[in-house]
Parts: sequence; C-alpha cells; structure tokens
Amino acid sequence: MIKLDRVNKYFNKGKANQIHVIDNTSMTLPDKGIVCLLGPSGCGKTTLLNCIGGLDKVNSGKIWIDNQLITRFSSNKIDTIRNARIGYIFQNFNLLDDRTVFENVAIALRMVGIRDRTVINNRVRYCLEKVGIDQYRNKLAGSLSGGQRQRVAIARAIVKNPRIIIADEPTGNLDSGNTLEIMNIIKTISRERLVILVTHERNIAEFYSDHVAEMKDGRIVKAYNNDSSRYLDYQLENKIYLQDMPVRSEFAKDDLKVSVYSDEERQAEIKVVLRGNNLYIDTGGRLNVVDETANIEMIDGHYTAMDESYFEDKDFNYTAYLPAKYKAKYTSIYKLSNMLSSGWKTVKNFKKVRKFLMVGFVFAAMFAFLAVSNVLGILDVKPVDYRTTNGKYLTIANPEKTDALLEVVEGLDSVTYVMPGETKISISLPMDDYLQTSYASEDLTVSLALSEVLKQDELVAGKMPDDPHDVVIDKSIIDEFLREGLGNAVGLDTPEEFIGRRLSVPNLEDYRICGICETESPSLFIDASQMIYILSNANDVNDEFAFDGGDGEAEDIIKSGKVKDIDLATSEIKVKSGKAPESIYEVMISADHEEEIEIGKTLSVKVAGHKLKLVGFYTSDNAGEDTYYVHADTIRADYIGKQKNFSAYAENPQQLKAILDSENLPSKINDERDRRAYIHQRKDQLTSAIVVAAIIMLISLIEMFLMLRSSFLSRIKEVGTLRAIGLKKKDIYRMFTGEILVITFITAIPGILIMYFVLTQITKITYYLQGLYIVNPFVALATLGVIVAFNLLAGLIPVYMTMRKTPAQILARTDI
Ligand code: ADP
Repeated sequence: MIKLDRVNKYFNKGKANQIHVIDNTSMTLPDKGIVCLLGPSGCGKTTLLNCIGGLDKVNSGKIWIDNQLITRFSSNKIDTIRNARIGYIFQNFNLLDDRTVFENVAIALRMVGIRDRTVINNRVRYCLEKVGIDQYRNKLAGSLSGGQRQRVAIARAIVKNPRIIIADEPTGNLDSGNTLEIMNIIKTISRERLVILVTHERNIAEFYSDHVAEMKDGRIVKAYNNDSSRYLDYQLENKIYLQDMPVRSEFAKDDLKVSVYSDEERQAEIKVVLRGNNLYIDTGGRLNVVDETANIEMIDGHYTAMDESYFEDKDFNYTAYLPAKYKAKYTSIYKLSNMLSSGWKTVKNFKKVRKFLMVGFVFAAMFAFLAVSNVLGILDVKPVDYRTTNGKYLTIANPEKTDALLEVVEGLDSVTYVMPGETKISISLPMDDYLQTSYASEDLTVSLALSEVLKQDELVAGKMPDDPHDVVIDKSIIDEFLREGLGNAVGLDTPEEFIGRRLSVPNLEDYRICGICETESPSLFIDASQMIYILSNANDVNDEFAFDGGDGEAEDIIKSGKVKDIDLATSEIKVKSGKAPESIYEVMISADHEEEIEIGKTLSVKVAGHKLKLVGFYTSDNAGEDTYYVHADTIRADYIGKQKNFSAYAENPQQLKAILDSENLPSKINDERDRRAYIHQRKDQLTSAIVVAAIIMLISLIEMFLMLRSSFLSRIKEVGTLRAIGLKKKDIYRMFTGEILVITFITAIPGILIMYFVLTQITKITYYLQGLYIVNPFVALATLGVIVAFNLLAGLIPVYMTMRKTPAQILARTDI
C-alpha cells in the first residue's frame, strides 16, 4: 500500500523562479488495479510519480511504501526499495539502446539477485513473449520501433514481479494502434498489481483505470473510483470504416468497378491509368496519394466503440519461471571481472579520436615511470654512495681539546676505541711501477679504522693483517679509483692488483695493502700502533670539521713524527748528549743549538699548552736538519690540542649516542651526518625530479578527467536509466571504475614497459645515471599503482558530481 501525507515539492526553492509543483497532496493508493493521475501537461504528475518512486525527493510530507516511510530513507535505502518493489515504465522508454532486448530485461533480474542462467533465460523470454516481442530478443533495443521499445520496457518492469508498476505516460510517444496494445498489456498486469499511470488522455484514463485522481496545479482536485460501464471511443488512425464514410459513389464499366468513399463532397478530376500490373493516379497535385503499403486498413463496416471484452482475454502469470523462494533483493551486478570486461567493451567502441587520445596516456605513463624512477633513485641512497667515514663512528665534540674527555668516552662499555679528530685523511698510492711513472701517485681519501674491529667475513680478497704496517682497504675506495680510470697509466685495473701495493704517508715508512674488505664504507684498516702517526702526518681532509690548528711553532713539531722511528742503530740521527725523549713533553734538538741552551731547560715552544723540556742533542746525516724530536705521547697531545672533536668507534652507534645524550655530551652518528649531507647536496636534483613528476601527473590527471567526463556525458542517459530502474550509485562507480582501469592498464602497462627498457639501457651507460634512476619491477608496479590511483581520482570526479543528483535530475538532464 502506498500512502502520501501532505507532500510538498518545489523546484528552484527560494529563487525567483520557484515552482510549487506538488501542493500539500495527501492520498492513499490501493494494492491493485490501475490508478490514473490525470491532468493537463505541467500540473505536476511526473513529479508526483517520481517522488513516489524514489527518483526524486520531497521538500516536506511523508510517503509510505508498504508501511516503510521512504521519505526518511537514504538514497541507498530508497534504491533498495525501488529495485525490489517498483517497476518503472517511462514515456521515452529509457532503454539501454546499445544492448539487446534480452539484455535490457535480464539486467533487471540480475539486479534483484537472480544469477541462474536458465531461470533468467526462461523468465525473460516468458515476459518478452507476453508483450509480444520475443522474436526480437537478440536485436539491439535502439533498432526497434517505439511500440516495440515500450514492450521491452514493460517486460523489464514486470520481469522481477514487483508489487508496484509506475507508468509515466507510457503511450505518450506511441501511435493509437500501439497505444491500445500497450494499455491492454498494462491492464493485464494490473489485475493483481498496483499500476500508477500518468496520462493526459481522458478517454484512455476512463476506459482503463480503476481509480482516477485528477490533478491541477500540483493538487489533486478530484479522486474517484472508475466503475462506470466502459466504452472506449478510440478511432484508430490506420483504420478506415467504409460504411461510415458520408459520401459514396461507384463507377462500373464492363469488368472494371471503382468505388469512391469520401469524407465530404469534393470537386476533383482524377485520372486513373491501368497498365500492365501498375496503377497510375494523377490528381493534378491536389491530393496526396497513399497506397496499401502505408499499413492502412479499409474495413467494409461501421466503427463500434470498444468495451471491456477488448482487454479481458489476456492472461499473465506473475511468478512464471521465478524460483519458488524468490524474494527480490538488491544485488550488485558488477564484480571485478565484469567491471573490466564491460569497461573493455566500452573502450573498444571508443571513436577514433578518443582512441588516438589514449596514446597520450602511453606517453604520460612513460614519463611517470621516468619520474618515479628518478625520485626513488635520488632518494635511494646506498651507504657506499654517501658514507665518507666508517659507519660505526660517532663524532663527539671536545671543546677542551684535551685528553680528559677522550679517556672518559674510551672508558664507556659500548666504545671500542677512540680516535682523536676526524678519521678521514688523504693517503697516497705511489704508482712508481715504471721509470716513466717514478713520481706518479694518486691520493685516496679514506676513513681510518683499527684492524682489530675488522671481521674475517668482511675480507673479500687477500689476508688479514699480521704486521703493524699491513693495512686492509675497502673495495669501495678501489671501485671509485678504477671507475675514474686513475690506474690506467700503470695498467692497474682490477681490485686484486691492489694487494701488495704500498700506501704512503709523509715522514712515515710505507704501508702495504694485505687485503680488501667490504664494509660499505671507504675504510682503511690500520694497526692501532700506527694511528697517531698516520693522523698527524697525513694530509687532513676534514677542512669543514677541523679546528684552527695551534700556533706556528707547533706545526713544526708535527714534522717530528720520525720520533717513532728512533731506532738509533739505523737512524740518520744519533744522540750526541743527553738522551732521546722517553715521555711526554720531552724534546731532543739538533746539536747545532748546543751553544744556546742547556739540557734540562725548557724551550719556549708549547705543545697543547705545555713547554717542552730539553733532554738531549743529536747529530744528523742531513746537514742543517733542525727537527724537534719528541715522544709519541707529545705528538698525540699536540694533535688532540688542534682538534675540536674526536671519533668514537662503537659496534652499536645508536646505543652509544643514547648514552652520550644522557651524559649531555654533544655527538653525531657519522652515518647519519654523512647521509644528511649527501641528501642535502642532492636536494636540488630531487626537487626538480619531483616537480617534473608532479607536472606529468597533473597533465595525465587532466587528460583522464576530460576523457572520462566526455565518456561519462555521452553515457549520461544510460546512467540515468540505470539509476531510475534501481541500480545503486556504487554500481555506477564500479561501471566507470572498470572503464578507467581498462584505459589505464592498456595505456600505462605498455608505457611503463617501454620506459623500463629505455632506462635499463641508459643506466648501463654511466655510474652517474645508475645512481639517478632505479629500474626494477617494484618501481614499475609502484608507478602503475600511482597512475591507477590518479586516474581513478580524476575519472571518478565527473561520476561523483552526477551521483549527487537524484535519478530524476539525471534523467531530466538527458532530456535536454
Ligand atoms: P506533468 O508531468 O504533469 O507534465 P511535471 O511534473 O513534469 O508535469 O512538471 C511540473 C512542473 O514542474 C512544470 O511546470 C515543469 O516545467 C516543472 N519542472 C519539472 N521538472 C523540473 C525541474 N527539474 N526543474 C524545474 N522545474 C521543473
């Protein structure tokens, strides 16, 4: 049962052109029979129907359908009710023109949950037969005549056996012959179902309906049961009742007889020629000639008005072929598979221009892949790319520049050892293999680490060190060296050839490479005893971290690194008087100064704030040598005194950092510092890569938006129709999602593959490009994911805009 209580509906509410289209209307409709809304065009009949059928919303008032107050429901719930209980028949049919007759009807069955093919086939064909159109079931709906289409629409409305049929001017676009046949079918349906019929033809209303509600200006002005005896005075345009024609005359000559019937007395001169099997008629151009092919029937009798016997001989079984336990329930008709297959069909039928536009997506996908690969390539920094020091170091501030803090930190459990200053130094690789290259050498920048922390499994070639002058070098240093072709002059071109080569530091005996390791950092592993000598004699490359060195005099003392080698038996110097320095701040100077100062006095030269105490004089083979020889501890104190920080090696740098933080000791994890510096340096590159990526995505986004919008607009009628017959919004989204996915896949996959191939080739060219792009299946998939997400976003915007409208609003748009 349907009940309306004081329903009001406005168009353009609150605007100058406001129309109060339903004016406080209340009515109760019965469970079966035809209820006819009768009234002049524009009085609000369609709007009232749309409100009852849930295609439109009321502004106030209540509408119940089978005791459910639908005016309270969300559009989703209303869709459920419309789909299960209401069959809609429209004046302009609203069929899916590019689908078959069968498909148009079957879709309504699928939407109420029937999936069994045999049931669908039997039920659809039964309904098509009943409306007399089964023979056209495989034709496209768009190819049928108006009367045939309306039969399809009726079949679609009744196939799910709804309680209510809403028919909005179902015969408005039909000729009189079809009008009666369609009305007869509707009359048949109404025997056990409610049909709400809108018409402006009073004779049709009064012949067929059981109840009539007459409307005027949005109000029901008269409602009555129509049980008076029924006669339909309905002259059919294609029938001519000869006995009713007022003027008749006959001409006969021999075997030729001509009868003329006319609606009035006329003056006419007509020539008729019979030749062969042809009849030629000449009316002097004053009359139109119509022959029997125009479907005109001449009946030799009188017209009689039709009575009820005209429609009472039809039968219709509401539940024929439906499952015994059938209960209509909304079921989504789109799953991923048919989403994609129907999307594919749509795309296949795209016009040439649109197909051509799709090439744009291929390019967009190519560049999107390039951009994503570039952004990821720049972001993906590998330790070997950014590390300038061994990753296990922390740099700790030492503002006092004394040993005190070093000793405290060295004493911490998680610290393996500490190294004064930075660990990064420059060391020279002599390339004096040939006479021609006797002065050639290359400087390597390395991060010093003690060989005690080198693990056997990190060694990839050679052997572990067993002499204080053995060193192990990381492969990344060699790789860089070889990449730059620095060893070409001496034919040094494989890592293995480095084993056995020398490394030299000024003033120190050469070191020998005994092994190559892989620690993902440019490390040089040295013996602990060599640390301070190498640090103080090698070229400092830590300009950005180094503190201003001490005074000029202390600089000279660095030269006295040779003190470590005071093996007086082999040395170029000999103690002349006194002794060689044995502890910190003791000094031995050239005997050239014997006249100026005595042993036991202090020199004015200061190291780390201490004056040096003279303990001996030497003589040298090098005439004029004036080096100050001191003990290793003095060198260390001098070196520390020039560094504003030191490096601590820890197996777990994070843990040490936490400890130092809790002790309020400022420190930095080298790995993080190096990484940040590296990314900072690549920031500009990254920014431009992201900008390029964003522009490409935006272009692709706009193209997809425009394309889907035009595709959507060209199918707005289909969308309106589907919404009107009860298809839910989410299914409309799925329908277009399928199309977007198909467009995306068939364009993005080739685009990505092309660029994949191109980039694979390009990155083979140089190491630099290899660092700029990442090309792997993951990046390809990620790009596809990004494109799919963007395209769905862009493509579904127009769908979203329309889905906010009511089905009636969408249909109204398609009528324009
Ligand atoms: P009927 O079905 O009786 O011909 P309608 O219900 O279609 O009448 O329309 C009633 C009135 O509302 C008409 O004046 C029509 O112009 C107006 N109308 C219908 N739909 C809209 C709309 N979407 N926006 C504004 N006015 C509308």
